Amino acid sequence: MKILITGGAGFIGSAVIRHVIENTQDRIVNLDKLTYAGNLESLADVSDSARYSFEQVDICNRSELDRVFNKHNPDVVMHLAAESHVDRSIDGPAIFIETNIVGTYTLLEASRSYWSSLAAEKKAAFRFHHISTDEVYGDLEGPEDLFTEETPYAPSSPYSASKASSDHLVRAWFRSYGLPVLITNCSNNYGPYHFPEKLIPLMILNALEGKPLPVYGNGTQIRDWLYVEDHARALYTVITKGYVGETYNIGGHNEKQNIDVVHTLCELLEEYVPNKPEGINFYKDLITFVADRPGHDVRYAIDAIKIEKELNWVPKETFDTGMRKTVQWYLSNESWWNRVLNGSYSRERLGIE
Ligand code: NAD
Repeated sequence: MKILITGGAGFIGSAVIRHVIENTQDRIVNLDKLTYAGNLESLADVSDSARYSFEQVDICNRSELDRVFNKHNPDVVMHLAAESHVDRSIDGPAIFIETNIVGTYTLLEASRSYWSSLAAEKKAAFRFHHISTDEVYGDLEGPEDLFTEETPYAPSSPYSASKASSDHLVRAWFRSYGLPVLITNCSNNYGPYHFPEKLIPLMILNALEGKPLPVYGNGTQIRDWLYVEDHARALYTVITKGYVGETYNIGGHNEKQNIDVVHTLCELLEEYVPNKPEGINFYKDLITFVADRPGHDVRYAIDAIKIEKELNWVPKETFDTGMRKTVQWYLSNESWWNRVLNGSYSRERLGIE
């Protein structure tokens, strides 16, 4: 199988590519614009494979998309390219509308045109898999409530509204044109190669530098966390076994308050960092509560029973094992995150000294 994956230089996309190259015989075409969030260094372990190729393309550029489809003749598309950071969407929503809505529309149209031209057998096997978020559902009211695939959409931020819009476009291309689509909505991911603006890597790297650990509001917002390699495995399961037109929620059964996530990280750093600074609670003492994000959702929690029962996927990592792996990865991969923090990962590819 040849998979065209958009956003493969990002956090989750790179995990999917590593999973596919290391565990299957499938071929990958990684289509990515390389925004600030795209880092080809996250693919260093697999990019020498003869089954991997890269195209630097913007999903809003229709003629370039057509060129890539005609050159590579993919069997499936896995669409992960997006602007993904909620805080950035509140500060500057325009690029979220452009990439997540217009970009998804442009990719759907390029895919539809390519799919229409395929011979019958290849046409029947083609899949367009749209990767989305549980944030499209808004937040939950009761402490026991869970998001199911039938939960009505109620997005709160420009990011989640743009992802909700893209989900609706994908559903419409299935209903109106018969494009064979699959949609997944996943909870918060964490793990290796996560860009240090997101909660978990930000806290680890700030703590290592002895900087404040900023927690929004009182830190009681609840998120459901999934180790990124479990998500990558779930996405591959959906693209190979999922039923056309279906939506699958993906989650890790790990509902945690943000403050508890930060406490866990501090405790793991206490355990793993050699020669740590003096102080009984050195890392926890760095926690600083800051003004809450506008429109901040209180609680997300996913009901993943459909993918577990129908497609036989379950997460391998618990919150404890996944967090241990994540902290250990950041401690062993300083060269990766140093090059992100000092900007050299993107300056060098732009040819800037
Ligand atoms: P990311 O920000 O780490 O990576 C996004 C990638 O898309 C980058 O490589 C970037 O260069 C690329 N990109 C951005 N705009 C592009 C454009 N116009 N054309 C081509 N490439 C472009 O994001 P992520 O965390 O890996 O998330 C991937 C997908 O999964 C997103 O669609 C996101 O909504 C979804 N998702 C993320 C999470 C999470 O916790 N991170 C959870 C559920 C769903």
